[in-house]
Amino acid sequence: MIQPKSKLVHNFSAGPCILPNEVLIQSAQACVDFEGTGLSILEMSHRSKEYIPVMENAINLVRELLQVPSDYAILFLQGGASLQFTMLVQNLLPVNGKADYINTGTWATKAIEEAKLFGEIDVIASSEDKNFNYIPKNYTIDNNASYLHITTNNTIFGTQYQEFPNSPIPMVADMSSDIFSKKIDVSKFDLIYAGAQKNMGPAGATLVIVKKSCLGKTSRVIPSMLQYQTHIDGESMFNTPPCFSVYVSMLTLQWLKNLGGVEAIEKINNHKAEILYKEIDRNTLFEGTAVVEDRSKMNVTFVLKNKDLEKEFLKLADERALSGLKGHRSVGGFRASIYNALPIESVEALIDAMQYFEKQHA
Ligand SMILES: *Cc1c(COP(=O)(O)O)cnc(C)c1O
Repeated sequence: MIQPKSKLVHNFSAGPCILPNEVLIQSAQACVDFEGTGLSILEMSHRSKEYIPVMENAINLVRELLQVPSDYAILFLQGGASLQFTMLVQNLLPVNGKADYINTGTWATKAIEEAKLFGEIDVIASSEDKNFNYIPKNYTIDNNASYLHITTNNTIFGTQYQEFPNSPIPMVADMSSDIFSKKIDVSKFDLIYAGAQKNMGPAGATLVIVKKSCLGKTSRVIPSMLQYQTHIDGESMFNTPPCFSVYVSMLTLQWLKNLGGVEAIEKINNHKAEILYKEIDRNTLFEGTAVVEDRSKMNVTFVLKNKDLEKEFLKLADERALSGLKGHRSVGGFRASIYNALPIESVEALIDAMQYFEKQHA
């Protein structure tokens, strides 16, 4: 018998983050007995007739939900988005090649550092001058660069591309914290990657969507595990995949599909972000940290104008079971991560606390 959660907590964690309750219950059940097989999902072969459909289903759901064209491979790998920082370069940047990067925050900075180990990297735009509180708009993309790398949502600083760059060269994107939150045109990208733990599932699995025709052209020596082609050939089972993470991701994607897919969740996400930013702008005590037109619909960063009140607001948040609101140290203040699985009621509970706090300090 799986026990439900002992109390309701509004989970604003930036990652690993909230998952749908029904997914947690189903996953917990599968840990004991997977679909009446008498085996736990944790103790069966990844090549068994029970597990293979899990991987297939997860891949099919990604293809369906994001309308991934058939000339793209979908992979579930390990190592997190951080391993992709280096893996993508080795697979896409030719020896003596050059790539353009846009620096929009901590994760983009790390992607740039890793890329620089393998070739000429040009940071064509950066918002570091204003502590990454905006998305750069004016820059020139080099037609001769192999690809342009962007980070579509900046988890730490709370900014997000509202429109993708109009790039004359293939784009590569870290979509860790906004994949499946809205409709995207996959064909604009040669490669998309995302750690599962922000909007798709638990930590341990990394999603990669890669256009097959752009591989095998770098003339680099790449270790097998770091070659996308290895994992394409092995159908994400070259070695033991992160079986459980893929399973929970599959359930989460199924949940999203039942809800109406990315179009349906995009409307809900827009609404959640709209009411929260509206309160931040209305409330006399708080202010947002990101430039208005670049505000993220996934990670909402805001501060108290009077920093001395910070501890007191976090105490109120704690009393009201509003969890995970403390901002990242590089921005301070607060960050409300309002990913797909966070219900509107949790956003309303946060708004309510902000209004109560304002009255207390009137
Ligand atoms: C969390 C995050 C990462 C790092 O992901 P790992 O899976 O921990 O390596 C990279 N990029 C973005 C945008 C993130 O939010």
